[in-house]
Amino acid sequence: MMTMALAELASRLNCAEYKNWLKAGQGLLLLRGALQGFAGEQVQAFHRSIAARLAARPPRCSGRCPPPRGKQFQPACSLCKEWKKEILKHHTHRTGEVNWGNCRPWLWPSNSWEIAKAYMPRGKADSCGPDKCDASGLLNLFTFCDHFSNIDQKKIREVIKCRNELMHSSDMKVSSSWLKEFGNHVQNLLSEFQDVPEAQAASTRIEKLLSSDWAVHVPGEDQLDGLESEISQMQMSEIEAELIKERLCEIRLCMEEQETISKEDLNRIQAVKDFIHNNHDLQRSLQAEMQNLEDLVQKLYSQQQLVKETEEVNCGEKKDEDCPLQKMKRMV
Ligand SMILES: [Zn+2]
Repeated sequence: MMTMALAELASRLNCAEYKNWLKAGQGLLLLRGALQGFAGEQVQAFHRSIAARLAARPPRCSGRCPPPRGKQFQPACSLCKEWKKEILKHHTHRTGEVNWGNCRPWLWPSNSWEIAKAYMPRGKADSCGPDKCDASGLLNLFTFCDHFSNIDQKKIREVIKCRNELMHSSDMKVSSSWLKEFGNHVQNLLSEFQDVPEAQAASTRIEKLLSSDWAVHVPGEDQLDGLESEISQMQMSEIEAELIKERLCEIRLCMEEQETISKEDLNRIQAVKDFIHNNHDLQRSLQAEMQNLEDLVQKLYSQQQLVKETEEVNCGEKKDEDCPLQKMKRMV
């Protein structure tokens, strides 16, 4: 790594609460890594049991089914109708909404992960296997699919709550007491997986992670003894970029769902943008995500303007409001 990038990373890690945020994020990445194999195997078993019940059905979708959009899927063929019924039957919130848009139903008979995605939050369409699935996807699967109901649901919900608090933290900082609580919740959940060796290994690694001091050595500066970390600086930067990416993705999904942008959204984006702007080493790895987000803001803003203009024509008055677009332009 370049010295300057190291210096920037070191200076960010001088903020204890930001370091806590990163450590918790890394804890979630370890948790995810530990449960992916288990999730994949269990989803295959779940899939086999449904496929066996539907064995008498035609082998594939007729091709006349419209692709699902968001929470809507109206299958036209009998096979897709049956699979949809089975997926709903095993949903723990049967009257709740399902993000059918995550799925490619024509693959349901042959691809077990395509049914798993029906139990996940929106935005998981591209998660094409357990190894591509984030902690949020896995934890939601464990709570919304009754195949996993033998896992203590309270323990899962506690970790989901922590994960959401972490990802919604506006300044990407959490306190040390929060981090301690988080560690307890994650360990409680991992204790549910006594038969999964990866989970037990992750339990030890997470314990070490949360008690370690992430120190960055900048060449030319005095290095203090005993601060050597078990995690390389390169890894730290990668973890950091991955977490900020997840946060940007979360903001984008939230705006897409609401189909509007609020001042709060703009403030959130501004905060991340300022943060990236002040840290050159992060700019390159996060450029594409930032651009996606800005494109979406422009698109939603134009739509909002259109609606507003129509309303103004209808009620004959012009409202004087702040223009978030100018705000966005200043950001670029
Ligand atoms: Zn079909």
